[in-house]
Amino acid sequence: MAPKIYRSPLPDVPVPNRSVFTHLLSSSTNPHLVGEHPAVLPAYIDAPTGTTLSRAQVKSFALQLAYSLQNHPNLQAKRGEVVLIYSPNSLSWPVALFGSVAAGLRCTLANSAYNARELAFQYTDSGAQLVYTSEEGLPVVLEMFKSLGVNESEVKKRTIVLTTSLHWAGSAYLPAVPIAKGFATLADLLGHGALAQEEKFDGDLANETVYLCYSSGTTGKPKGVETTHRNIAAVLNQTLPAFPPQNPGSDKMLGILPFYHIYGAVMLLHLPFLSGIPVVIMARFDPVQFLENIPKYKITSSLIVPPVLVVLSRLPIVDKYDLSSLDVLFSGAAPLGAALTKQVKERLEKNRTNGKEVFILQGYGLTETSPTTHLIQKADGVRKIGSIGILLPNLEARLVVDGDGDGNIDAKEGQHGELWVRGPSIMKGYHNNAIATKDSITPDGWFKTGDIATRDSEGFYAIVDRRKELIKYKGFQVPPAELESVLLTHPEIADTAVIGVDSEKEATELPRAYLVHVRPDAVKTEAEKVAFAKGVQKWIQSKVARHKFLRGGVVVIDAVPKSAAGKILRRELRELAKKELAGR
Ligand code: AMP
Repeated sequence: MAPKIYRSPLPDVPVPNRSVFTHLLSSSTNPHLVGEHPAVLPAYIDAPTGTTLSRAQVKSFALQLAYSLQNHPNLQAKRGEVVLIYSPNSLSWPVALFGSVAAGLRCTLANSAYNARELAFQYTDSGAQLVYTSEEGLPVVLEMFKSLGVNESEVKKRTIVLTTSLHWAGSAYLPAVPIAKGFATLADLLGHGALAQEEKFDGDLANETVYLCYSSGTTGKPKGVETTHRNIAAVLNQTLPAFPPQNPGSDKMLGILPFYHIYGAVMLLHLPFLSGIPVVIMARFDPVQFLENIPKYKITSSLIVPPVLVVLSRLPIVDKYDLSSLDVLFSGAAPLGAALTKQVKERLEKNRTNGKEVFILQGYGLTETSPTTHLIQKADGVRKIGSIGILLPNLEARLVVDGDGDGNIDAKEGQHGELWVRGPSIMKGYHNNAIATKDSITPDGWFKTGDIATRDSEGFYAIVDRRKELIKYKGFQVPPAELESVLLTHPEIADTAVIGVDSEKEATELPRAYLVHVRPDAVKTEAEKVAFAKGVQKWIQSKVARHKFLRGGVVVIDAVPKSAAGKILRRELRELAKKELAGR
């Protein structure tokens, strides 16, 4: 039987085979780089200081940085090499990212909370040669290089420090604080010349990788997702019709999502630049600063994750702020419940001086889909609350029931099925991992999301479950396989399995570990079990980044339930956790 293929209700858009840099920063392709605008119109604004990077400055600094990356005697970066960015959000980010892309480099974006071990994995796996780090990240980078046996003079050649707080002096960067001696800063690399034009990746070359974000995909440890120039040009053109500027001229976005996640990178650094919307950058989400920045900068929209709404629903001081400028909050990266949406909408609308509606909309996507595949538009926000919206242009979807074991039976109307997506914004594959690529993309181009979805008769989708083992804590990926391998290095743990449990209170999942002790008689009593579990919960905090802490609890069991083939039966553990946590 022919597969049941759903297409986007929106008309197809052109997908240029064009370099990301050209697509975004060339005046022939971006209308917001023409005329008076570029020099005066802010592209990015540093929230605490109000320091602005204009559109013209972004381009000019990027081409200056690209020149130094290629020509500085210590760097001599070559087209195709990989550079790792390890920094919280800052004004330096767009310059570092687009400058590297202009120089023809690939950028691998690392979680700024990673410890040295986690960073070393990504640095090595991605084949990075260079690292950009914030001042606060420098000690972690040094520890990482030490663990990799890289000598000091080599470390200095491979590290560029991004100043997180910038003073602005004419067209030059000045570092705000003195940097550890001997390390090149972004400021040092500007002002020595500029590339006349960016390295081009047009035509077939558009299928070369530009970004390598890490995702565990359906199973296993984090893998480098090969996002190509074409993927990015495609996703930007596909997203624009569903997410156009709402108030041209006065739109301003508040950027709290981390730029190292593809959601933040594309939706905050790329898309607003293409559509001419300035982004006010915060280093990270802080509830009070978030509330202060909305009236201060007359913010009209912000991209968020569901836990931000929990804060907005609870925090008493929310009522003190005039948030009238806010038009849209756009949530992604994790499921957003209808009840929470309604609650926050009502609260935000209560105190508005202009009486206007606030839209809380949802989108969906994955690192592997660059990221957005579904969006709900303003007109449908209330009517279809809880939905992730419609499929974006140029994309096709299937809902597949794995009934016959090889995943080819399509769900009937209204039935659940695994969401498969096909189109120009699907990644090329996983870096150096042909097996994982083959497991996730079918020979005819369908990417298996690992999420279970439904589609209503009007073409609106909803995510109802997850088939894959991935846990998401406040939008951050927590791959169980990675935590399990860390736990297995504990001398008293013989076996383990990690699952996610839901916290309605925090609108997120929490990682929960089940452990088997190497000597079961050491943990016979309830008190012994609790003490051991507590010890492990503390121990893990010295081993992994904060979002991977075992906030969902640690439980001692006799044996991890496994299939005959040795696969962890996570569903069984999820059921067990539900019972254990019932009534709490
Ligand atoms: P990432 O690659 O980190 O962006 O994670 C992608 C995963 O996040 C998806 O496969 C989903 O499991 C989850 N996700 C993203 N957006 C949503 C959403 N709106 N609703 C439910 N789950 C989501």
